[in-house]
Amino acid sequence: MNTRDKLDYFSHELIDYLYSESDPKVAEPNEEEKEKVRQLLANSLSNNLTGNIVELFKKLKELRRDALSPEVFDISRSQLEELAVKHQEIDEHQVSIGGRVDRALPIVEEAASRVSNYLEQKDVEAPSGIELWDQISANHSRIKQILGMDDKDWNSFSGQLKFAIESLDTLGRILNLPAKALEEVSRVTSNYRMRLTPYYAGLIIPENINDPVLLQSVSTGEMIDNAGIEIPPVAADHSPARLIDQFYPRVVTIKATNMCAMYCTHCLRIAHIGKKDRIYGLEAYEEALDYIKSDTRIRDVLITGGDSFMLPNEMLRRILNELDSIDHVRMKRLGTRIPVTTPQRLNSELLDILEESNDHKPVRVVTQINTAQEITPVSKEAFKQISKRVSSVMNQAVLLKGINDTEVKMWKLCETIHEAYVRPYYIFNCSYRNPQFSHLRVPVEKGRDIVESMYGNISGDAIPRFIATAGGKIPLHRSNVVRAENNELILRKPWSGEEVAYPDAVLDQYEDQDFAFSRLRNA
Ligand SMILES: *Cc1c(COP(=O)(O)O)cnc(C)c1O
Ligand code: SF4
Repeated sequence: MNTRDKLDYFSHELIDYLYSESDPKVAEPNEEEKEKVRQLLANSLSNNLTGNIVELFKKLKELRRDALSPEVFDISRSQLEELAVKHQEIDEHQVSIGGRVDRALPIVEEAASRVSNYLEQKDVEAPSGIELWDQISANHSRIKQILGMDDKDWNSFSGQLKFAIESLDTLGRILNLPAKALEEVSRVTSNYRMRLTPYYAGLIIPENINDPVLLQSVSTGEMIDNAGIEIPPVAADHSPARLIDQFYPRVVTIKATNMCAMYCTHCLRIAHIGKKDRIYGLEAYEEALDYIKSDTRIRDVLITGGDSFMLPNEMLRRILNELDSIDHVRMKRLGTRIPVTTPQRLNSELLDILEESNDHKPVRVVTQINTAQEITPVSKEAFKQISKRVSSVMNQAVLLKGINDTEVKMWKLCETIHEAYVRPYYIFNCSYRNPQFSHLRVPVEKGRDIVESMYGNISGDAIPRFIATAGGKIPLHRSNVVRAENNELILRKPWSGEEVAYPDAVLDQYEDQDFAFSRLRNA
């Protein structure tokens, strides 16, 4: 085979271009350019690296655009063909120079342009709690002092709960909110309960007028003004047994507590978490477990609330043990926001309980993080510890106006939690059932744009599914199957809109059951 024949289509195309007739414009290379080309050529010949050859071809391509062909630099076509072959032979996967310079590199460059705005904006528009840590630490010291907490109080879950901010007065002392704002909040606190742990309150950046952590934890008057006809809570028509909610044949939830360490302004369970903390009697759990025992189709049980980590360790251990002892229950989930709102809850006993149960049957922890700001070095450490003990840690975010309703904010959230050992699982469209927080809702179309913008731009396992809750979880994604023609589908790349043909499986072939070993037996 001669040199030319060893080259692929892409390389021929590239070399043909370099030697094609120049434009009428007569260009003269300057000395600097000549020296540069001489140097690149020498490098390409002197060792066995692909980079030099790529640089040379890139430079020649650039010069050709200025109407300077390689001949101007005394480089012959056969010399370039030999270098092209050399490149292909060095490369472990025989990638040709044409494929690399004319296709792969421009594709990478084009792809990079899709993330340039994000890379510029992400730390400005959506700083994480890790990036804000100095400021958050200062907030923590200030709050600790104002509330009169000592280190022991601060570092314990009981201390965080004991000093939780539940009154307008305390809120005013730690946040220095204007009187008008406090008045607004007071319209709500008389009807709905407010609670922020001192740790979580410290994540609020007071200079931000609509700080996303503040919006999630302190309600404004809209909550009262929006009040319209409230649709009965999910449990009203989906609770077949005490503490149980059920939409699906094989997955049920136990609402094991109505307590949370902080109360969200957008809480879907606002009716359950109600007005006042309640401790449930053992017989309530027994009735719930009896229901699960009696239906052998149930394989996956979610312990939720409220927040499942509000349960004392002993109660969690007991429920997990009971579930592990039911043969048809094969997996468990624990719903909790506490690693984000009050990471002080984690202790070695809790981690041991998780690991022990996970050793029997998989445990997944499902959390709720809505902004990158909620991931601090402390919550990241909490998730790291949890992730070592359970089968997976997943996030269910809620799409909320002003909180995470831009591409930059949502990408940053997904990447930040991904790096904090948490896998993005769902993004919920904010529920229509509770008019109280309709001022936080985002149109579905906007949510679809945001979620779809992630495809092809961030890691696939950091892309959540976009879900509406309406008597079960309904995926809201657009279809990327544009149309079908004969045996071919036309697919749309979500990141560019480009349509590509995708040949489907051949139906006759699919329907032929006599294949693989069966075909051999019958032969
Ligand atoms: C969310 C939820 C589930 C779990 O749904 P997945 O799609 O499996 O995460 C099950 N039951 C109820 C009542 C729920 O609210
Ligand atoms: S943690 Fe969950 S249950 Fe508790 S207030 Fe927030 S959304 Fe509601």
